[in-house]
Amino acid sequence: MLDARDLPDGQLLSADVCIVGAGAAGISMALEFAGSGLEVLLLESGGAGHEKPTQALYEGGVADERQHSPLHRYRERRLGGSTTIWGGRCVPFDDIDFQARTWMPHSGWPFGRGELLPYYVRANQLCEAGTFAYGAAESLGSGARPMIGGFQSTLFSADGIERFSCPTDFGRRYADQLRAARNICVLLHANVTALRLDPAGTRVDGATVRTLTGKSLGVRAGHFVLATGGLETVRLLLASRDVHRNGIGNQYDVVGRYYMCHMAGTIGTLTFARPETVWHGYDVSVEGIYCRRRLALTAAAQQQLQAGNFIARLHHPRITDPGHRTGLLSLLYLAKAFIPYEYAKRLHDGQGGGLLQVLAHVGNVLRDPFGTAAFLLHWLRYRTLPRRKFPSIIIKSRADRYSLDFHAEQWPNPASRVTLGSGHDALGMPKLHVDWRYTAGDVVTVQRAVAALAAELRRCGVGQLDYDPATVESEMTRYGAYGGHHIGTTRMGGDPRSSVVDSDCRVHGVDNLFIASSSVFPTSSQANPTLTIIALALRLAAHLKKLDARERSAQFVAPPPTQARERVVRTRDLVHS
Ligand SMILES: Cc1cc2nc3c(=O)[nH]c(=O)nc-3n(C[C@H](O)[C@H](O)[C@H](O)COP(=O)(O)OP(=O)(O)OC[C@H]3O[C@@H](n4cnc5c(N)ncnc54)[C@H](O)[C@@H]3O)c2cc1C
Repeated sequence: MLDARDLPDGQLLSADVCIVGAGAAGISMALEFAGSGLEVLLLESGGAGHEKPTQALYEGGVADERQHSPLHRYRERRLGGSTTIWGGRCVPFDDIDFQARTWMPHSGWPFGRGELLPYYVRANQLCEAGTFAYGAAESLGSGARPMIGGFQSTLFSADGIERFSCPTDFGRRYADQLRAARNICVLLHANVTALRLDPAGTRVDGATVRTLTGKSLGVRAGHFVLATGGLETVRLLLASRDVHRNGIGNQYDVVGRYYMCHMAGTIGTLTFARPETVWHGYDVSVEGIYCRRRLALTAAAQQQLQAGNFIARLHHPRITDPGHRTGLLSLLYLAKAFIPYEYAKRLHDGQGGGLLQVLAHVGNVLRDPFGTAAFLLHWLRYRTLPRRKFPSIIIKSRADRYSLDFHAEQWPNPASRVTLGSGHDALGMPKLHVDWRYTAGDVVTVQRAVAALAAELRRCGVGQLDYDPATVESEMTRYGAYGGHHIGTTRMGGDPRSSVVDSDCRVHGVDNLFIASSSVFPTSSQANPTLTIIALALRLAAHLKKLDARERSAQFVAPPPTQARERVVRTRDLVHS
C-alpha cells in the first residue's frame, strides 16, 4: 500500500488490471485477484481517513437542494469509500427486479437473478452478513416468530428478512489482506482525472493520475475498471474527451441519464388488535447476525397493482412531534447537532423547532429518565463497544403505535440526470451537476402499495393503518432522494442507444474499459444496493480472470512513450521495492 505523493512526478506505472476506486466494489474485486498472477493496481483518491481537501473533490451542484443532498454528503472519498459510514443493511435483489415489466418502461436486465446467485454468496461473506439466506425460518431457526400474528396475505410477504453487516468498513477490514497480496498494489492519494483513448477511440491507452500536492502520474493497463461509485463514474467518462467530444461511452447521450435513488419515507399510524403478537425489533440469526423482518410486496402483487418493488417496516412515531412523549425520541431530537448529517437528516423533518417545541422535548426527557438511561446503557453495550454493532435505534411505543417506514423502487427515467456542471475542483476536473427527478410511476408505486397494505391488515383483522392518501407524494419526497444510493447512470443493456455497458459491464465500443458500480443497474429494486454492487464486481473479476492472460499482456502493448520508457514501473516492482 503506497502513497502516490511519494512517487516521482511523471512516473509511469503499468499493470494487467487497473481498478479505480477502493470502496466496496474496488476492494472486493481486488481481493478476488489476490494470488491470481495478474498484476493489479488499485488507485484510490483518499487516504486511510477522512481528509477535508480530498472530500472537497466530491463537491458539485444540484438542481433542487430540497430534492437532493449536496454531492459531498452521503459518500466518502477515502480508502473503503462509503462503507466507512454505511448502515450495513444487506438485501439481495428479487427475481422480478431483473425482468422486463410491461408496466415499467426501461425495465429488464440482460440476465436473471440466477446469474448473480454464486456471487451473492461470496458478497454476503465479504459484508460479514453470514449465510446467504433471506427467509426468516431458515435464518432464525426455532427463534423465528411471526412479525404480525394472524397476518396472512397473498399481496405481502412477512417471511423475509434483511441481514446486517458489522457494518464492515471495507478499507479497515481488508487492508491487511490487500497488503499481503504480492500481486496487488494499492496506491493512495491517487486521483484519476482522465482516461486517455487510443486514436480510434476503442481502447483506453492510459489514465492520468494527479495528487493534491501537484504530482502527475500515468498508468497503462490491459484492463481498466471504474469502481468510483454511481456519480463519480459519470464524471470520469464525461470529462475524458480527448477522442470522443461527448465523453467516453456517450455517443448516444446516455451517460448520466436514468439516475435513480430510492423512494423512502414514513407514513401513517399503525395500531394492532393484539399488540403482543407484533414483533418489529431485531432478531439474531443462528450464526449471530442481526436480522430484521419486513413486509414485502410480492411479485404477483406488483404486477396486479402495476407498481414497482416495495417493502415496509414498522417504525417509531415521528420524532419532531413531542406528542410521542418518549424521552429517548426527544433526546434524539435535541442531540441533532451531534449526529452525522447522513443519519440526522431523516430523523428530522425540517419543520421549525420553536422554543416551545424544544421545551416539550426537554420535558419528555426529564419525565422519562430511567427509560433514557437504560437506552444509553444498551447503546454503549451493543452499539458503541462491539465490532458487530446493534444496527439502529428500536423503540417500542408505549401506546403500541407505529408508523410505516417504506423503501420503494424508483422507476428508470431518462430525464433524471447527472451531467458536468459549472466550475472545477482543485485538480481542474469539471464538477458534477445532479438533476434528480421522480415520476408518476414512483408515486403510483407507493400510493398503491400503502393502500393495499392498509386493506390487507384490515381484511385479516390484525390491525389498522390510518393515513391520509393525499399526503403520500409529500411524505415520499419529504427528504428528497434517498441518500447514498446512486443508481443507473451507466446502465447495462444490449443497445448502446439506451445503455452504456454490456452484460459483462464493459463500456460499449471500448474494448478494455469496465464499470463496477450501482451505476450499471438498469433498475433499482426495493433493496439497498451494496450487496448487488459487490456481487456484480465479483462477477466482473471472474470474467476478467477468464480472459487469456497472454492476450491481455499482448493487448497491453506496453511501449510507453519512448522518451519515458526507462521510467515505467510495473506493479510487481512497486510492490517488491
Ligand atoms: C450514510 C450511508 C448509509 C448507507 N447504508 C447502506 C446500507 O445500509 N446498505 C447498503 O446496501 N448500502 C448503504 N449505503 C450505500 C453504500 O455505502 C454504497 O452502496 C457503497 O459504498 C458503494 O460502493 P462503491 O464501491 O460502488 O462506491 P464507494 O464506496 O463510494 O467507493 C468509491 C471509491 O472510489 C474512490 N474514488 C472516487 N473518485 C475517484 C477518482 N477519480 N480516482 C480515484 N479514486 C476515486 C473514492 O474515494 C471511494 O473510495 C449507505 C451509504 C451511506 C452514505
